[in-house]
Amino acid sequence: MTIAIYPGSFDPITNGHLDILKSGSEIFEKVIIAVSYNVNKKGFLSVEERVELIKKSVKHLPNVEVDSFEGLTVEYAKMKKADVLLRGLRTSFDFEYELQLSQANNALNNDLKTIFLITKPEYNFISSSMVREILVNNGDISKFVPKAVEEYLISKRGI
Ligand code: ADP
Repeated sequence: MTIAIYPGSFDPITNGHLDILKSGSEIFEKVIIAVSYNVNKKGFLSVEERVELIKKSVKHLPNVEVDSFEGLTVEYAKMKKADVLLRGLRTSFDFEYELQLSQANNALNNDLKTIFLITKPEYNFISSSMVREILVNNGDISKFVPKAVEEYLISKRGI
């Protein structure tokens, strides 16, 4: 059984993330989407909130598990007995960053392979930071995030 980890900040999860995850779940027997965090870095949403929103957004994908971890992705992957890291690519900027990251991970664990999936054109410009920016400026985020995420963020904005 091939286990893939899809690590990221997911602050919050977007439709772009979800599309990569869905494709990954069609390729691999099991995909663990894992919020990677650093206790010293405060995010927009807490790790618990991010995990909860991902859980609500992936209910239709039976072979997807949701988790979080702190520290090196390679160590987490080893603990989960994963063979593959799944990442998404939008632009050449993503590519430059992801190339270095995957080579560093590969230097730390030669057995772990990073597999990239290219985003669909309609999700190409979507990022968590863009969603946060639209949200704080009272814009409409409904096209960019799953329904559960939209509802939660709007209710939180109202607090
Ligand atoms: P990180 O901080 O690890 O980059 P992100 O949550 O920003 O975490 O992204 C996680 C992964 O998802 C990365 O590989 C990123 O390139 C990819 N990704 C982010 N947004 C999109 C999108 N709209 N389409 C496809 N992949 C995406």
